[in-house]
Amino acid sequence: MSIEVKFWGVRGSIACPSPDHVVYGGNTSCLEMRVADKVLIFDAGTGIRNLGKDLIRRQVTEATIFLTHTHWDHINGFPFFVPAYNPKASFHVMAGHLTDQGGVERVFSAQMANPTFPVPLSAMKSKLTFEDFNVGDELKPGEGIVIKTAPLRHPNGATAFRVEHDGLAVCFVTDTEHQPGKPDEIILDFIQDADLVIYDSTYTDEQFEQKIGWGHSTWQEGIRLCKAANAKRLALFHHDPDHNDADMTVIEQQARSTWSGAFAARDEMVLRIE
Ligand SMILES: [Zn+2]
Ligand SMILES: [Zn+2]
Repeated sequence: MSIEVKFWGVRGSIACPSPDHVVYGGNTSCLEMRVADKVLIFDAGTGIRNLGKDLIRRQVTEATIFLTHTHWDHINGFPFFVPAYNPKASFHVMAGHLTDQGGVERVFSAQMANPTFPVPLSAMKSKLTFEDFNVGDELKPGEGIVIKTAPLRHPNGATAFRVEHDGLAVCFVTDTEHQPGKPDEIILDFIQDADLVIYDSTYTDEQFEQKIGWGHSTWQEGIRLCKAANAKRLALFHHDPDHNDADMTVIEQQARSTWSGAFAARDEMVLRIE
């Protein structure tokens, strides 16, 4: 029994392909969890394009896509998610922050509309279903899999996910802004005893003062939360596109030396939680 996590996109804000971003990667938010016989996808940033190609190679034609929220960097890979054009495939898209704002299908449809995109959502011939839940709801995407949800402090709202299976717990906590000196009690409770916490580490504490109100957090806050909540490991995630490989190497070294459970997520990194 295990949860396999694969990072397909680890950047925040905007994709940043460049010769200075090859080690950690330049794709925006997307990760895959394989739990029991289910494929769970979290976010549909540019990383979902490569995930789509991998699903085709693996002949996977069914998955649920959970969205933290619908800012560009978390959804704009979806038009390039090739399996969604396959009439034999089926995908279920879920979001928790849009129940009062017209729902997630409307946002996906608007993203694929003239004159900003030439192919409409209706051209995706897979069985595509959309569901809006209320943040805080507990989701059950398969036998023995429970996903808890919690609200995050982010402009327009965002949802954190805690995937539980067979006594294991993996938490995906992005995008969120903390208040210095005041740990977010909702997150603390949410990540308690987790095996892995994937956390919005866009900035460093030093940069944070200039970024108040932008909706993001720091790797130092991630470590403070994980230690206080007795979590086992922390994956720094949603890297700032302005942090190139040299910057990320320094950040990762500092994080590791601060707490041995910390590391920086990279595109195509695979972790087996057991
Ligand atoms: Zn983001
Ligand atoms: Zn965002």
